[in-house]
Amino acid sequence: MNSKLIAPCGMNCGICIGHLRDKNKCLGCRGIDENKPDGCRKCIIKSCPILKENKMLFCSDKCEKFPCTRLKNLDKRYRTNYRMSMLENLENIKKTGIKKFVKSEQKRWKCPKCGELLCVHRDACLKCGEKR
Ligand code: SF4
Ligand code: SF4
Ligand SMILES: [Zn+2]
Repeated sequence: MNSKLIAPCGMNCGICIGHLRDKNKCLGCRGIDENKPDGCRKCIIKSCPILKENKMLFCSDKCEKFPCTRLKNLDKRYRTNYRMSMLENLENIKKTGIKKFVKSEQKRWKCPKCGELLCVHRDACLKCGEKR
């Protein structure tokens, strides 16, 4: 896991099933499009012109619309389905800086049983099956 795997919306691509799977690994939102599912390749947040115009790394940097409806909807979906919040991530990045955030994520998503990274999209550790 590294800071390049943290998407502009606050998603940590390092814990996504698309990135953690063995075959056709997605290299994350900021990576090349190969193996990226359509939803992420055509993501309206990633391609938001405000991000580009202001050379922003994250939506929370200096967007006047932050958090916009698109981002709020994505956050709601993740809070409801996967017990994870992009907006909370962005808040923590703002508070502690990206390096500390990545470190805290490494700790947060480490399987207590085998030490492998857990996946946000799965209820159990991909390696040992321990429940999240
Ligand atoms: S599938 Fe989407 S969320 Fe998952 S790693 Fe790739 S870009 Fe990130
Ligand atoms: S929060 Fe701002 S920069 Fe991010 S997608 Fe919404 S409008 Fe674009
Ligand atoms: Zn495990």
